[in-house]
Amino acid sequence: MTEVPFSLDLSRLQRRAGQEVENIERDMLIIGAGPAGLTAGLYGGRALLKPLILVGPSLGGQTASTSEMENYPGFPEGISGADLAQQFMAQATRFGAEIAYEEVTAVDLGHYPFVVTTYGPVYHARSLIICTGTAPRRLGIPGEREFVGRGVSYCATCDGYFYRDKTVVVVGGGDSALDEGLYLTRLAKEVIIVHRRDRLRASALLQERARANPKMRFVWNTVLDEIVGDQAVRGLRGHNVLTGEPWEIACDGVFIYIGLVPNTQLFRGQLTLDENGYIVTDKRQRTNVPGVFAAGDVQDPWFRQVIVAAGTGAAAAIEAERFLAEKAFEEQKAGHPRRGANL
Ligand code: NAP
Repeated sequence: MTEVPFSLDLSRLQRRAGQEVENIERDMLIIGAGPAGLTAGLYGGRALLKPLILVGPSLGGQTASTSEMENYPGFPEGISGADLAQQFMAQATRFGAEIAYEEVTAVDLGHYPFVVTTYGPVYHARSLIICTGTAPRRLGIPGEREFVGRGVSYCATCDGYFYRDKTVVVVGGGDSALDEGLYLTRLAKEVIIVHRRDRLRASALLQERARANPKMRFVWNTVLDEIVGDQAVRGLRGHNVLTGEPWEIACDGVFIYIGLVPNTQLFRGQLTLDENGYIVTDKRQRTNVPGVFAAGDVQDPWFRQVIVAAGTGAAAAIEAERFLAEKAFEEQKAGHPRRGANL
């Protein structure tokens, strides 16, 4: 995927090139189609606001690449993340939410209706719900970027199949590392968890399962310095953080699960973000810009659970509906009902 600087206004370039840019007005625009965005769409649809959900890189967000969800209420036997995301989407569209596969390249929240530019149309939104989620944190070591897709992965569910009967390393000690590591034990010959401390951060249940799995072993107090290979990954080099002793291992793949970073580059300088880049919202999912709401992981460094993301998506849509109703009332009172987009 080509990375586009957030400030690049493609519609302006298209105008300069003499091409027509489609301008579309919406009462409710939702950026992101993970559990928060799809639930906001469901609630917005049921409020007859015809929400439009812009799907970025992936429908379903990180949920769609989770092998098994065991803690989403209503599914006592568990459900795959992909199936759950499909059900969210089916329910949202059943009530009138629309989905557009458009990647946002720029937003202007200083203008009302808010201007959201994509590679295609420019949207003018009377309310905006941001559900852009998080992305995997990178290790930032030599070899990581070079070997993505050739042995370096951030998604066991997507890439695990390529490592049947092979040796893989999983980096990290949180829920994701153990959850995805356990998934990999179904395919790989051996799964080695490399963690920078000697205590795991993951939940007790996952720890118990991981420790009991004969295909899993742990390397403690160790960090990676380099991923090495030729056409594909062949091994890792690192060191013990307590002794400084070098450490290396031959392996066929490395799965990196060292936490998440919020996808908020588009909003920097326009919305209040916390010190880690998460959007700051109040208890009603409101950002510092009236009419702009945020839901799901992009504003949640604490829980990062599907059920919580879905709940905040619902809350954001309810608040957006209230905002629109108040705005319409004020505009009517002032004698100029519903201002059109200022194109
Ligand atoms: P996380 O909980 O932040 O854990 C990240 C892990 O990576 C930690 O063990 C951390 O080590 C390690 N780490 C961080 N930076 C590192 C670096 N530069 N080098 C080496 N190791 C590094 O992230 P997560 O596991 O992705 O989980 C994210 C959230 O999703 C959590 O709230 C989690 O509960 C949730 N989640 C839940 C489930 C579930 O409920 N089944 C499944 C997946 C994720 P330290 O421990 O030393 O800090």
